[in-house]
Amino acid sequence: MKPATCSTRPTLTHLGCGLLLCLAALLPATGRAQAALPQAVQAVQARATAQLQPVLETLKSLVAVESGSRDLDGLGQLAGLVAARLQAAGMETRIQPAQAPDFHPQLKGAKLGAMVYATRQGSGQRKVLLIAHMDTVYPRGMGQKQPFRVDGDKAWGLGISDDKGGVALVLHTVELLAELGFKDYAQLGVLINADEEIGSPGSSATIARLGSEYDAVFSFEGGGFDSDYVRLATSSIAIVEMKVSGRASHAGANPEGGRNALYEMAHQILKSRQFGDPAKGLKINWTVASSGETRNVIPASATAVADVRSLSNEDLDLMEAALRESIKDKLIPDTRIELVFHRSRPAFQANAVSRKLALHAQGVFKELGLALGVRDRATGGGTDAAFAGLRPHGGVLESFGLRGFGAHSNDNEYILIDSIVPRLYLATRMVMDVGSGALGW
Ligand SMILES: [Zn+2]
Repeated sequence: MKPATCSTRPTLTHLGCGLLLCLAALLPATGRAQAALPQAVQAVQARATAQLQPVLETLKSLVAVESGSRDLDGLGQLAGLVAARLQAAGMETRIQPAQAPDFHPQLKGAKLGAMVYATRQGSGQRKVLLIAHMDTVYPRGMGQKQPFRVDGDKAWGLGISDDKGGVALVLHTVELLAELGFKDYAQLGVLINADEEIGSPGSSATIARLGSEYDAVFSFEGGGFDSDYVRLATSSIAIVEMKVSGRASHAGANPEGGRNALYEMAHQILKSRQFGDPAKGLKINWTVASSGETRNVIPASATAVADVRSLSNEDLDLMEAALRESIKDKLIPDTRIELVFHRSRPAFQANAVSRKLALHAQGVFKELGLALGVRDRATGGGTDAAFAGLRPHGGVLESFGLRGFGAHSNDNEYILIDSIVPRLYLATRMVMDVGSGALGW
């Protein structure tokens, strides 16, 4: 859509300080007249404001379907719901099956929830992709006890901030653009995957490919808690699986005859505590372990899994080298140790185009009189922005979702309702400015 009051497309300067004053006019507190506002932008804000209740309705419908990463029924139901909405908004939509690779240490070729990919061709210059994930960390049954509810300035529900809020925003951004009749992009794309919380083993290749095809990718993970931000960096993640083999023996009559795999594993785990470097953001945490089945048998095997985070892909290499060196030094010489170091997710490191997008996003937010932070240091979270940014054609920005709290918390997850309208406005305006080519690079 072209701005009715302007003879040219809105440009960065165009939507700069002059417009700020105009937009301030729209805010009720200023008491100014609306007439000064360029119609195109006025329409976006008015419609975004009108979407508040519909977004809450969407959140309710998304939270109502439990969708843990291995809950194929729930994920299938959500994929159908999301696909229907995108199709109704004029997008060509398909549901794509997903499967973990055979070499994945825990999932080993498992069937995963299908992803939804939708596109719409336009008449503009650039291709913009919006991504979010519909899977959660919560097993089936937990959501029933914590249904969607609105209380004051918060909307509660399991998975609502991570990342059903993001899915809802993507749907409403697409619908708002359709409502406005805006098609001044070369292509608008949406990818909603169903395996993010387990490292996106079935969708990462697709996201990386799309990232190399689209001019801009906006990823809709949560956008902060006490302040709004977008991210230019996320952590890399690795999964370590340690398998120790020993020898079984009677724990009472002949413990010396056994080789206790549990002792050896504990020894290795404790040694590895010193391998992290918190100052550099390099962390290892052992989170899952099992060994032994019978009280009076020296255990012959033990396995443990660790979660590793780092700010750079190079640091992951250092961690792997340290672990491999360490397992050469054993507590119990006759045991055998196998180590799988699986790089689950690369670090997202922003390029110049991403930085330019972040700067522009700040300007758009400022039109509402609001401040938007830019985080360019990762804080431990890893997201799909990293896959989109692996071989970037253009720029990638993370944290386009709602502000909220309690991701992965089991019983305390909510979004801040006040963030719905500004975030919907931001996403819509970014698609417009990037799609039309107004924001050049
Ligand atoms: Zn997430």
